[in-house]
Amino acid sequence: MISIVCPFFNEGPAVGLFMARVIPIMKSLDEPFEIVCINDGSTDRTLTELLAAQRECPQVCVVDLSRNFGKEAAMSAGIDHARGEAVIIIDADLQDPPELIPTLVDRWRGGYEVVLARRSDRSSDGLMKRSTARLFYRLHNSIADYPIPEDIGDFRLMDRAVVEALKQLPERRRFMKGLFAWVGFRTITVDYVRAARSAGTTKFSAWKLWNFALEGITAFSTMPLRLWTYLGIVIAMLSLCYGSAIVVRTLIFGIDVPGYASLLTAILFLGGVQLIGLGVLGEYIGRIYVETKQRPVYIVRACDRGADPAASRTTSLDQV
Ligand code: UDP
Ligand code: MG
Repeated sequence: MISIVCPFFNEGPAVGLFMARVIPIMKSLDEPFEIVCINDGSTDRTLTELLAAQRECPQVCVVDLSRNFGKEAAMSAGIDHARGEAVIIIDADLQDPPELIPTLVDRWRGGYEVVLARRSDRSSDGLMKRSTARLFYRLHNSIADYPIPEDIGDFRLMDRAVVEALKQLPERRRFMKGLFAWVGFRTITVDYVRAARSAGTTKFSAWKLWNFALEGITAFSTMPLRLWTYLGIVIAMLSLCYGSAIVVRTLIFGIDVPGYASLLTAILFLGGVQLIGLGVLGEYIGRIYVETKQRPVYIVRACDRGADPAASRTTSLDQV
């Protein structure tokens, strides 16, 4: 069986368009399939639309989360609920073309455990998003222990073995791109052109993306922490030189009272540097704090596997 995993957050108008494109492609594959749709706490008619789609196509499985947990958690929920030998993650807005799915499956049958889809053309994404994304990948990959491939989103196929490996990772704050890269496995890339959104607007504001980037860097690198040791050494050495110069000058020329400007500059500069260092420490301590609470990554209100009688049915969503 092949599982499609797709997170939906306020994608009401996109549900119908998504099903109309994805279902015929899946049927053409001549292989059993399921479409695991995660309703990530949508406040619009997404859930109703998903249930309507399920009545049309019993292969649709609806996992309803108790609130909005974010895309990373929604994807984790989908991966946990998927039962296929291969799992394909795809966005609901058709920015990842479903027509690429047969190619992904083909490569998987060819023996690859991970098939990545690379955006060879992202012109539909806007200049700002593309340039900040490039900057993020450069920075992340120069300091992270496990580089993440550039221009690769969450659109990918994973073998069951990869999925089981991912499920073993215990962290609560899940930066999926990094986790995908961390588990490894035999990987191949196929290219595609990123389409425009089918309906609705992006769910990621600039502020959300910034926090997402921080999450990625702190989850996969301790470089920002270690940086302070080296910066401290450099500043201490400069201070030693400057201090020695002042002592020598005082011994030769006597006490020279003025020094207000240099004193104030040094205090302000070092105060700023220390606050930045504290802030970086705070980023990591905050994450340690969150991890130690061991809260679940997501909470499922109900899971409806449609017409599949063998499946465990937590609650029928029709009753919710
Ligand atoms: N998404 C989600 N939860 C969120 C935000 C987004 O499940 O809190 C889903 C959204 O419904 C879509 C996918 O993540 O299927 C990608 O979101 P979007 O298209 O807004 O991101 P972009 O393509 O602009 O990066
Ligand atoms: Mg999108």
